[in-house]
Amino acid sequence: MKNRIYLDYNASTPLRPESRAAILSALDVPERSAHNASSVHSFGRAGRKIVEDARAQIAALVNAPSAQIVFNSGATESNNTIIRHFETQFPEEAILVSAIEHPSILESSSRLEKIPVDSRGQVDAGWLETRLGKTPKVSLVSVMMANNETGAIQDVPEIAKIAHRHGALFHCDAAQALGRISIDLTNSSIDFLSFSSHKIGGPQGVGALVTTLCGQTPVLLRGGGQEKGARAGTENVAGIAGFGAAAKAAMENMDASARLAALRDHMEARLLEISPELVIHAKDAPRLPGTSFFSLPGVKSETMMMALDLEGIALSNGSACSSGRVKASHVLRAMGADESAATSALRISGGWATTQSDIDGFLDIWETLYKRWKKK
Ligand code: PMP
Repeated sequence: MKNRIYLDYNASTPLRPESRAAILSALDVPERSAHNASSVHSFGRAGRKIVEDARAQIAALVNAPSAQIVFNSGATESNNTIIRHFETQFPEEAILVSAIEHPSILESSSRLEKIPVDSRGQVDAGWLETRLGKTPKVSLVSVMMANNETGAIQDVPEIAKIAHRHGALFHCDAAQALGRISIDLTNSSIDFLSFSSHKIGGPQGVGALVTTLCGQTPVLLRGGGQEKGARAGTENVAGIAGFGAAAKAAMENMDASARLAALRDHMEARLLEISPELVIHAKDAPRLPGTSFFSLPGVKSETMMMALDLEGIALSNGSACSSGRVKASHVLRAMGADESAATSALRISGGWATTQSDIDGFLDIWETLYKRWKKK
């Protein structure tokens, strides 16, 4: 069997051993019982303790009070919750989102106004400031902390301040930033933060929306009053336990960033030696340490992805292809990339378990395939 190499961490990360252990322990309830965290009996209280311990671990990772963390199914739900809340609460006011947001923001309403980005994938703060000074009034500005395709990190503290200066609240999708760069909610102007457990080595299908004391309480799902009425539905105790353990491990390993950035820089230098026409996107912007997004003009993303997959390398073209039809990246289009770059992009994303030998294994295969593509 071929040595398989996983370089698609921005899609989902391998489960950390600490997370797996916490999930198994939470599932290991006494025979013929269950711990619904809302039940008042002893089994329920055991479930509640697991949930609250995890909440504290996640709160620590983003420096927010535990009480502000609302568990849900992940960043998609958090993003939909926020946008729909502002859409219904402030029907006369506008919602501004960056043009490079994840589809879970962009598709959540037909009423969004898009903030342009420059060729490095950075939000145009001057445009934002000008728009905020005009009518209709803006209720919410939503800009992601780090882009899932390019890895480009936005100047969120500054953008959030601009929003506040004009009386708008600020939401940030931190799905890709969580556990990879430091987040300090207490000392920022961020009002709402979205993220998912499976991007930091926790299980899929669990995440959180953080809501600070900004006067708004966004609610999407109503019913049993769980999560203080902010998100109904029986808590996913085992998933939350795994999320908490992953958050703790991520926090203890934040210094892995430097190692990942060095691996990424080595990989990009070698890629450019092998294939000098390669274009690395957002290269001069601050980027997530493990992400590299590049185009090989003239060779289609699908062709490269399939050839690499046959060689055991898992990576992505960076854009939504859930229907099986690969579309040109909306992020690259917003950055002004031409058709050829937008349809020939590949994303490599590593993380907590990525090794030098993974990168070298990929580079060896890349060199062989590149020669084949260029012969045609
Ligand atoms: N936002 C960003 C930036 C993402 O990268 C993702 C996952 N690709 C999401 C939101 C959605 O996360 P989930 O699928 O876990 O709900």
